[in-house]
Amino acid sequence: MKLQRRSVLAAVLIAAPTLVRAQAKLQIPDRWYAVKVEDNAFIVEMPGIPDHKVLNDASARGTPFVLHSYSLEAGGNSYVAQTAFYPADVEYREPQRVLHAALESRAKQLNGGKWTKTDWREVAGAAAVESAGPLAGGSQLRQLAVSKERRFVSLAFMGRRGRRSLLQVAQAHLMAKPRIHVLAPGGTIATRPDSSGAMQMGLGADDLVAAVPLLKGVAEIAAETVSRVGSHSLGFDQIHALAARIRALEADGVVVTQGTDTLEETSFLLDLLLELDVPVVVTAAMRNPSLTSPDGPGNLLAAVRVAADPWMRAHAKALGVVAVMLDEVYAAADVAKVHPTRVNGFASMQTGPLAALVEDRVVPMSLPVRDAMIAARRKLARIGDKAAPVALFWTALDDALPLIPLMLAASDRVGYRGAVIAAMGGGHAPERAVENVVRLAKAMPTVVSPRTGGGPMLRKTYAGPSSEIALRQAGLIWGGRLHPLKARVLLETCLRAGLERAAISELFDAFG
Ligand code: ASP
Repeated sequence: MKLQRRSVLAAVLIAAPTLVRAQAKLQIPDRWYAVKVEDNAFIVEMPGIPDHKVLNDASARGTPFVLHSYSLEAGGNSYVAQTAFYPADVEYREPQRVLHAALESRAKQLNGGKWTKTDWREVAGAAAVESAGPLAGGSQLRQLAVSKERRFVSLAFMGRRGRRSLLQVAQAHLMAKPRIHVLAPGGTIATRPDSSGAMQMGLGADDLVAAVPLLKGVAEIAAETVSRVGSHSLGFDQIHALAARIRALEADGVVVTQGTDTLEETSFLLDLLLELDVPVVVTAAMRNPSLTSPDGPGNLLAAVRVAADPWMRAHAKALGVVAVMLDEVYAAADVAKVHPTRVNGFASMQTGPLAALVEDRVVPMSLPVRDAMIAARRKLARIGDKAAPVALFWTALDDALPLIPLMLAASDRVGYRGAVIAAMGGGHAPERAVENVVRLAKAMPTVVSPRTGGGPMLRKTYAGPSSEIALRQAGLIWGGRLHPLKARVLLETCLRAGLERAAISELFDAFG
């Protein structure tokens, strides 16, 4: 798309002198004061209380957008700051062209129409140009213009020659609020009562965000309803589509609000599918919105705070996808739903939380060990879109698992392509079930995972036909420390990626 010159010029060509209002004379303070920009794009720091204008404009293709303009007279200098959040149909992907347009338009105010100095820089990771040029009467116009994706900001002051560089002042004070994209697939957090009083899916992402006004102060929020489904009814394909949507976003962080029932599985699948350098946070609610003290709004605020937090953003890759519940941050590979109704229904039993939210601060506590995840991702480079159903068998006292042979006899109709055995203790099956388990392992890749809910299993301690030594020798794949539910998610993903048994075994082996 071509640069829509008219709209860009409209965004930057605000004749500064007309915006400068006489105010009480102020000294330029050492510190500049924050001005909240209402388009949530930038915080521009200006001395004192500036005049503020909101100017509505439209791109050449007619998409409306808002330009904020601030002006101030202080210490003999006139200041103007402008911010715009360009609509999608303006070509903002070439920041240098946007900045050139900004230079050209302001140059018209200069003596001779030319800047005497232009320095191309980066400010807070964004393309920037600082320029200076002569004004009539011996004064100088200095400008710093910054363009980052859809955000544009320019700061300018007219003053006497020799004043300190605007860049020095502005650089330290120009802050972009992080853009956090909230994706809402459904869940208890998004329910509302029907006429009988029973809770039904109904709320969308906008409703969830609107219920937490404090979010506005934390981030620039975009809200998107993905579906209105209880997480107990989500499918692998929906999570693959969600991952694709997340990959396509231009955001500084992503929050997924879903149901609690499968959060431990969906967050782990997202972790396998995504390798982003921005935080991806999954959250939910244990108490629905009609109950006293529902936890959804607090969890959403906490999740956005976590996604917007500088430490989380700096370590996004090292952390992987995280879950935030009740002010704690958990690694997706470890988080588990540990209670069906209580508000403290989540825990990370192997490793504990990665961070805690206290007041409005994220307090980091540890970084997860992710070697096995990283190695798995490398092997899972090409994941197909053909589902590969995986059966889950829970071992239990005195159960011979007689469903296994029935299933194998009808395997075409049943359709499972892999299986997980939630084994007892360090990796054992009841002796009476061993024959069936071994038959299953011969028919399809079968992973053994601890029914205790995670933690490394034994490999070489016990003898006898139902021991871990015998099961491993019989070709069962050792699932390492993964919870059976997560082992099932990983096996489905391996099968979708077309991995053979040996590669699957090697991949699981890295999990301990
Ligand atoms: N059944 C609901 C779901 O997972 C429960 C919840 O959200 O807490 O969507």
